[in-house]
Amino acid sequence: STNGLQGYAPICLGLEDFYVRRLYLRIQDCFGRPIASAPDAWIDVVERYSNDYNKTLKRTTKTTRCLNLGSYNYLGFAASDEYCTPRVIDSLNEYSASTCSSRVDGGTTVLHTELEESVARFVGKPAAIVLGMGYVTNSAILPVLIGKKGLIVSDSLNHNSIVKGSQGSGATVRVFQNNSPSHLEEVLREQITKGQPRTHRPWKKIIVVVEGIYSMEGELCKLPEIIAVCKKYKAYVYLDEAHSIGAVGKTGKGVCELLGVDTADVDIMMGTFTKSFGSCGGYIASSKEVIQYLKYACPAHLYGTSISPPAAQQILSAIKVILGEDGSSRGAQKLAQIRENSNFFRSELIKMGFEVLGDNDSPVMPIMLYNPAKIPAFSRMCLKQNVAIVTVAFPATPLLLARARICISAAHTKEDLTRALEVISRVGDLVGVKYFPAEPNKE
Ligand code: PMP
Repeated sequence: STNGLQGYAPICLGLEDFYVRRLYLRIQDCFGRPIASAPDAWIDVVERYSNDYNKTLKRTTKTTRCLNLGSYNYLGFAASDEYCTPRVIDSLNEYSASTCSSRVDGGTTVLHTELEESVARFVGKPAAIVLGMGYVTNSAILPVLIGKKGLIVSDSLNHNSIVKGSQGSGATVRVFQNNSPSHLEEVLREQITKGQPRTHRPWKKIIVVVEGIYSMEGELCKLPEIIAVCKKYKAYVYLDEAHSIGAVGKTGKGVCELLGVDTADVDIMMGTFTKSFGSCGGYIASSKEVIQYLKYACPAHLYGTSISPPAAQQILSAIKVILGEDGSSRGAQKLAQIRENSNFFRSELIKMGFEVLGDNDSPVMPIMLYNPAKIPAFSRMCLKQNVAIVTVAFPATPLLLARARICISAAHTKEDLTRALEVISRVGDLVGVKYFPAEPNKE
C-alpha cells in the first residue's frame, strides 16, 4: 500500500517543456525510491539511488531506517498484525498466491464470496463486487455503467483512474470545480437545458463522480450538498472512497458515516483495499441489481484474474478487526488513534506557519511548497534526517502547486510525530516554505 517512497514517479516522461524535463532529471532521486521493508510507521529506505536510466544505475542495498510519512497505511494494517497475518499465511498455504483464473472460470474461492458479503455489509449496501486493483475498478467499471448517450460530471481533482474510466466510457464528460456543489449545479443545469427549454432530458443517464477525501488536497467531500444537487437534477452519485473508507467515521465507515449521509443516497460506492485495509484490490458496492449486472458485464471481472486469496483474507481479517469481531477493541483504538494523530499533526503544522491543505479528521495533509524547485531540498533534507516524505509535482498537481503530501497512520506514536514535526519545522525554515507567521511561544 505504498507509492514507493517518494512521489509520483513518471513525471518527467512525455513532458514537452525542456526546462521542466531538465529540472525533473535532476531530482529523480526524490521519486520512486525503493524501500526494503513493509510500509509500516518506520521503513528501511535504500540509501543511494538514482532513477536516471540514462546513466549507470547507482543502487546499493544499504538501507537507512526512516519514519514513514508517505504510505496510505492509515490503520497500520500494512505491517504484521496479530490477528490478520497468521490468517493471511494460512490462506497462502491453503490457496496459494494466485487463483490463476478469472472469477467466472475457476477464480472464485470461498474467500471471494465471503469478501463481497463482508464489504457490502461494512459499507452499508446490499451487494458488492471486488476486483484485483483499485485503479482498474474505476477505469473498468465506469465504462460498464455508462456509455455514449450518457453524461459524466466529474470533480476537477478526481483521480486518474476515474478520468481514464470516464474517457473510456464514450460518455460526454464535463468537469466541475473541485468540491463545489454550486458549480456542479451550474454544469448540470447547463447540460440538461443546453440553453433551451426542453420537454425531455438530452441524456440517457447522468453520473456525478466525486471522491470521499481528495488525495492531493486532503479535503473531505461536501457530500450532503452534492447529493442534494444530484437529487434535484436526477443524477446518480458515484463516490470513490479510496482514502476515506476505514480511515474516517466513528466506526471507519468512511465519509457517509462522518458526514451523516445515508448510504442509500449514494448510488455507487467505490473504494480500494490498498489503504486502510493494508491489502490490494478495489470494490463497488451498490444495489443487488447493479452488482448482478456488473458481474456479467464488466470485462475486468470476466477476463481478469481474481484478487489473490491472501489479499482477500487480509481484507476480511482487517474488516473483522475494525468491526471488533476479532474479540478485541483494537479496531476502535486504531480509529481513535488515526483521528487523534491526524488532528494533532495538522494543527501543529499550521501553528508552525506551514500552509496545510485539507480538513480536520483527514489523514492526508499536503504542505504547500509551490515552486517545484523546492522539492529536492525538502525531500532530501527530510530523508537525511530519517523522515521519509512523499513530494508531489506536475502532472499530479498543477506546475506551480508542488507539495509535500503527508499521510498519517494510526501506527505512528506521539513520539514519532513529535520527532517528525521537529524535522519538518527545521527543513521548512531552511527551504523557506513557512508562508505564515508561527504561533508565538509554540515552537
Ligand atoms: N481512487 C483514488 C482516489 C486513489 O487515490 C487511488 C490510488 N491512490 C485509486 C483510486 C487507485 O487505487 P489503487 O492504488 O488501489 O489501485
